[in-house]
Order: sequence, then C-alpha cells, then structure tokens
Amino acid sequence: MPEKVFVFDTTLRDGEQSPGCSMNLDEKLEMARQLERLEVDILEAGFPIASQGDFEAVRAIAAEIRRPIVAALARANELDIKRAWEGLVGAAKPRIHTFLATSDIHLKYKLHKTREEVLKQIQWAVALAKSFCQDVEFSPEDAGRTDRQYLIECCHAAVEAGATVLNLPDTVGYCLEPEYEQMFADVKKGVPGINGVILSTHTHDDLGMAVANTLAGMRGGARQVECTINGIGERAGNAALEEIVMAIKVRKDVIPVYTEIRTEELFASSQLLTRLTGMAVQRNKAIVGRNAFAHEAGIHQDGVLKNAITYEIIQPQSVGMPSNSIVLGKHSGRHALAKRYEELGYQLTKPELERAYELFTTLADRKKNIYDEDLIALVNESFQHIPEMFSLKLFQSVASSEGRSTATVELEKDGEVFHDSATADGPCDAAFRAIDRITGVPGTIMDFSVHTVGPGTDGAAEVSVRGRFEGREFTGKSTSHNVVEAAARAYLQCANKAAYELKRAEEHAALSAGSVHKNGMVDRFFPGGY
Ligand SMILES: [Zn+2]
Repeated sequence: MPEKVFVFDTTLRDGEQSPGCSMNLDEKLEMARQLERLEVDILEAGFPIASQGDFEAVRAIAAEIRRPIVAALARANELDIKRAWEGLVGAAKPRIHTFLATSDIHLKYKLHKTREEVLKQIQWAVALAKSFCQDVEFSPEDAGRTDRQYLIECCHAAVEAGATVLNLPDTVGYCLEPEYEQMFADVKKGVPGINGVILSTHTHDDLGMAVANTLAGMRGGARQVECTINGIGERAGNAALEEIVMAIKVRKDVIPVYTEIRTEELFASSQLLTRLTGMAVQRNKAIVGRNAFAHEAGIHQDGVLKNAITYEIIQPQSVGMPSNSIVLGKHSGRHALAKRYEELGYQLTKPELERAYELFTTLADRKKNIYDEDLIALVNESFQHIPEMFSLKLFQSVASSEGRSTATVELEKDGEVFHDSATADGPCDAAFRAIDRITGVPGTIMDFSVHTVGPGTDGAAEVSVRGRFEGREFTGKSTSHNVVEAAARAYLQCANKAAYELKRAEEHAALSAGSVHKNGMVDRFFPGGY
C-alpha cells in the first residue's frame, strides 16, 4: 500500500526571503490561493517576527486559507513563538514551526552556546509552542552537519516536549544522497517515541541535488517534503515542488508513496509566481520550463507524432502546460478569451478581463497569430499588484551607432504629468536615467534580459529587469514590440515597487539593516531563517 507524503510548501517563507523574490501582502495572498488550488498539505506563510509585513501576510493568509495547514516560522525564543502564534490565531489548522541550530559550527560561531544549553532550549521552546498550538514542527537547523548522536538527542528532546513533525534540513545544500537517507534512518531508529511523529525533508540546491536528496530522505522514512514552486529560495534555491511531485508520480513503480497535489495546477502555479516576482524560470527547467515538452530533433518529433509515449514521459496536459497552438485571432470575443485564460490557470475578475481584452485586441491588430505565450505575457504585464505611483504616458528614444542615445519620457502621478529627457551610451540606459530624473529614486541595473514571445518575426520582446534601489532589489517585466519601450516599462515597474516599499518601510520603520528595532522587530534579512 503506498503511503501519503505531505507536501509542505515554503514558497512564501524560504522562497520569498531570497533576493529578488519579495512579494507584498496582496501578492502573497494571491499566491496562497493558488497553492490552495494546487492542494498543498501545508503552506508556510512567513516568519512573523521578521517584519511587520511578514506578520500581516501570515495573519491574512491564516484568516482566509482554510484547506491546508498554515504554518509560521519562529526561532526558539519567546518573542518569536508568541509572535508566530499571534499571526496564526485565525487559522483553521495552525502550525508553529520553530527551529534552532544544532551543528557544532553553528553552536560555536553563531549561537555561542554549549550542546547542553541548546538541548534545554529545544525542549523549552517546543513546550512553549505546544502550549499555544497542538501542531508543532521542530527543525534542528544544519542537521546535515550535526553530530549524529547529538542530533538524535535533540530530536528526542523535541519529541518529548510534544513536537508533531521533525524536519531535518540540509540547510547549506551539502549532503549527498546516501548521507541524507542515512540521517533519517538513524533518527527513525534512535529516537524513542518517534512513531507518531512525521519526519520531514528540507533541502537546498547548492550542489544541484535538492530534489534527489528529498527522494533520498523519503527512502530513509520522511513523509513530509519541504519545497518551493520553481525551486526559488536562498542561494541556489530549495527543492522544486513540481519536480518532486512529478518524480513521485511518474516513477510510482519504484517510489512507494503518493502526494495529493493536483498536478494540473503546476504550470499555473509556476506562471503565477513568475508573474508576481518577475523571476522567470529558465527555458529548459524541468516540468514547467517553456522547452520542457518541446521536441526539436526530427526523429523525436516523428516519434511523438506517431505516439507521444515514444519520447514523452509526462503528458504536458498532466501538469497544465498549454499547447503551443494558435488559439485566438482578431475576431475572438471576450468569452473565448476568458475561457482560454481559465484553461491556462488564470482566474480573471471582470475588470481584469476587460483590461486583458483591450490589450488583446490591440495586439491582434499588430500580430496575426496569438499564442498562449502571448496571452500569458499580456497578463504578466498588466496585472501588477504594486500600485502604480508613476505610469508611463509617452516614450520616445533616438538610438544611433555613433554618439550618445537620447530618451524622453512622460510620466503621470496623481493626475499630474512630468516629463524629462536624458542621454546615455545606449537607448535603454537613457530611458532609465530619464525615469530616475522624474521619480527621484535612482536605481542600478543588476540584471537585464530580453526574450522573444512566441515564434515569428512579429513576436514581441519580453524584457526583464532587476534593479537595485537604496540597497534593495526589485524586478520588473514588460512586453512590447519596441524593445526600448518594454525596457522602460520594466524599469518603471522596479522603480514603482521601490517607491512603494520605501514608503511602507518608513511607515513601519522595520527595514534598517541587521538591527533590532524599538518594537522588538528584527530586520528580515538577518542570518537565521534557514
Ligand atoms: Zn531553507
């Protein structure tokens, strides 16, 4: 009889805390709703002590999301655990997730504590969490590098204090498969009273082995897997949810477990996350990349046309991947558009549909064939949740192979129109500088990429920009037939996000680097969220 594996999604916690992936409250709620549709078992909503924004997001998600367990992270101290519980109070199924480092390296250099002190703290913290909440998860941070006998003692302390889930993270992405598997087997064997407790994996992709290690952990006895959509997360990222789920599904002949994930929602979940963070997956990304199911070689194409199972181990429809066929043209109506968006996993509200239809007809005037990719690019651009402080009214640029380029932009803010021009070595840079002159928040470009959307020379250009503003990074993405205009719009999105976040930060005074604030809040980027 195959056993169930619980899928613990940490896109909104471990994923969201990585550079370039931050989301605001509305964006987190939208992602949480999609994760509920995907039917994850546990949704880690945030780290409430980290910032006021994180706290509010956890509270809002706990109040709305009913089906999955909603978890919140807390270090093993009173302030953190109480704050996590405050955030979770409205949840239908709350879980406090507390953690403390247990490796000698962390004890010596980070915590400055002895093994005995840490052991006591684990017991105390889990018991405190348990006094608020029936469901308590404990993670010995850096378990992968913790002395095995001591790890077993720590796990035993947590179980005795009432932990319902024990998560053994490979925090730094260091373990090899056999080691990770063995750790679970040892804990399962060595900890008295472990039978009623669920063991959990948490892996990072520093050596490209996060998903493989997750499967190894399951072989060792884990029945919960912690992962993120698109594998976003600290450094090289966390284990990708879609890859774990599909590996289990496709190889059920040798992996004796199952998940209850609705795999048809995987592509839509990946797309939504990309839309909200501006962080796109590479084309050849397993399961959700644009090329994941594209067969280029003639002999493969021939085989697939005769029977897909010749070269396809997964049917694209089973992960909700749209076919790359022409679906709509100039004469398609609102109804057809709404239906296609629904099939692609986008639930548009009436005003959103109106806006999408307007953009669609403009695009259809310029482009004969509208592909699914065009439709996705269209919503990705037009439904940003950041309130547009400045919107682009007019844009002009002159580029030359000799000398400098010039750009003129006209931006509107609260009904008032501003315009300015700038010159630079290239037309995109000139546009960015002109925008800077108006917004007054100059940014530095950290990453800039251009892709074409759909096949054909009439395909639009999709520009992604990652910019640094006052020490923080923001991403923007836009699509246009004019590359420089798309770049200007993408950059303006970054600037709008920066202006919005800076305003919020002023309101909450919770952003000064690395310090503890008056209200007990600490900066969210402190080293500790594992
Ligand atoms: Zn992690």
